[in-house]
Amino acid sequence: MSKYHKSVVPAPLPISGIPLVAIVGRPNVGKSTLFNRLTHSRRSIVGDEPGITRDRIYGEVEWNGRVIRLVDTGGIIPDDPELIPSEIYRQARTALDEADLLLFVVDARTELASPDIDLARTLIRGRKPVFLVVNKVETAAIAAASENFRQLGFRDVYMVSSEHGQGIGDLLDGVFERLPAPVGSPAEESAVYSEVPEPEEADIDGEVVFDEGQEEESAEDMGPEDDIEEPLDDSEPEEVLDEDGKPVHRTHGEYQQRETSVAIIGRPNVGKSTLLNALTGTSRAIVSPIAGTTRDAVDEVIEFDGQLIRLVDTAGIRRKGKTELMAEKLSVVMARRHLEASDVALLMIDATEGVTANDAHIGGYAHESGRSVIILVNKWDLVTTARTDGKPPADKSVYEEQVRSALKYLDYAPLIFISAASGMNLDKVKKEIKRVAAQRRKRVTTGQMNRFLEKIDFQRAPVPMSRRMRIFYITQAAVAPPTFMLFVDRDVKLHFAFERFLENQIRAAFGFAGTPIWFKVRARN
Ligand code: GDP
Ligand code: GDP
Repeated sequence: MSKYHKSVVPAPLPISGIPLVAIVGRPNVGKSTLFNRLTHSRRSIVGDEPGITRDRIYGEVEWNGRVIRLVDTGGIIPDDPELIPSEIYRQARTALDEADLLLFVVDARTELASPDIDLARTLIRGRKPVFLVVNKVETAAIAAASENFRQLGFRDVYMVSSEHGQGIGDLLDGVFERLPAPVGSPAEESAVYSEVPEPEEADIDGEVVFDEGQEEESAEDMGPEDDIEEPLDDSEPEEVLDEDGKPVHRTHGEYQQRETSVAIIGRPNVGKSTLLNALTGTSRAIVSPIAGTTRDAVDEVIEFDGQLIRLVDTAGIRRKGKTELMAEKLSVVMARRHLEASDVALLMIDATEGVTANDAHIGGYAHESGRSVIILVNKWDLVTTARTDGKPPADKSVYEEQVRSALKYLDYAPLIFISAASGMNLDKVKKEIKRVAAQRRKRVTTGQMNRFLEKIDFQRAPVPMSRRMRIFYITQAAVAPPTFMLFVDRDVKLHFAFERFLENQIRAAFGFAGTPIWFKVRARN
């Protein structure tokens, strides 16, 4: 059986030895859908809204034990004055430079048009292997009609439906067959693969994806009937206490991640660039800057306490908007793009302004994206000592309460008062990044979950009788963000109050600071 994992990884990790496959094509042919299909992620962040441009998204695909990196070269939004149609060709050329193989996507439901022909020429001249992927082929009639795409002159033609999955397995087989097998000794080979980040089985929008083997395992082998015996090797979780003295369960390995990608998001002038400069200035900048693959995507990597922190798309942060309105709009676009590439988001609020509607808007995206969030109330220096408006100095607890009530959904996010300009509390920021990154990757075993479940008094959950359900057991199906699968007696939608109740109980028992917790329900019959 084929193993098929996805993991959306942040940014273009410079992983040597892992082939890069690029998806190119005109807008709307289905590149993003194909990317999502191949990586098992969903376009919850990559939106269709006008004005939202997505540039590049990187992911990984594992197929039969081998791994490729995949890049979606993205689409353009015609009303974005910065991106003219020739951008497609520029993207295609960049892809040609970087990729080991290209997937040239065309839309079976449109006529073969000159942009496709021009693009095909560009690609053929590139002398890299190109597979023509004729997308949206859901019926035999469409398949027949799309035969004319063969005129484009590509030897490898795959008819697929990215939306429904037809032909995707064949395409993957073809891709892996064409790419050079990893060279070198088995030791070298495993060295290459060991650099691949752990697959994360949760989609951006919370859909949990199992491969078939896993699904069987969680449904049968992990039931409480089996009276799970925890292995006594070093995967046995240790009991440790967190800051509040509560037990935190950890499994070896869960806490260690080589690199954490961090996005600094927020409205114009909240202090993003100032924070970035302060963070990179006070820490040793290891790679500064890495020339990114897009026009302006430049990441900077700093080290803190053994942890690499990749600050995503720093050039984008430094880029100043034109008009005020444009800058506000752009800050939302950038926030979404940066969230896509990050594990942890630093949501910056300007202390002199408080939480504005746009802050809440950006915070909402961060919450929905499944990223961990740390709220930074910046310019704290301006509201404490140097008040020019005659108001009394701000009080931290009162201020925090106001922020919390404006950003209710982010109640799990730590909040730190900082001054990016003076450097106040920046060490705390780095510590929190490290802690929160570990928490989002923490895994609770089914055994721990069973013991936890026994202790909860479900009678206390404020749920209408009609929506009550019996939970047989709960497993953590994914990390980053932690996603719990509830196996229940009947197929009713999880009541929000119940979800809230359960989430609070899980947090009280296991922590998960900074990260949203997602739930999936499965009725057994
Ligand atoms: P991109 O601009 O090339 O990334 O295209 P998108 O992935 O955004 O897809 C454009 C539109 O085509 C969206 O409305 C998709 O839902 C639709 N689409 C993508 N793949 C398929 C497919 O396989 N079949 C059908 N019928 N529609 C698809
Ligand atoms: P960005 O648009 O979010 O990148 O914001 P900037 O980093 O450019 O900051 C906007 C303005 O706020 C600049 O004039 C900064 O000097 C100022 N600023 C940023 N952080 C602080 C801070 O902590 N305290 C004070 N007093 N000013 C700050």
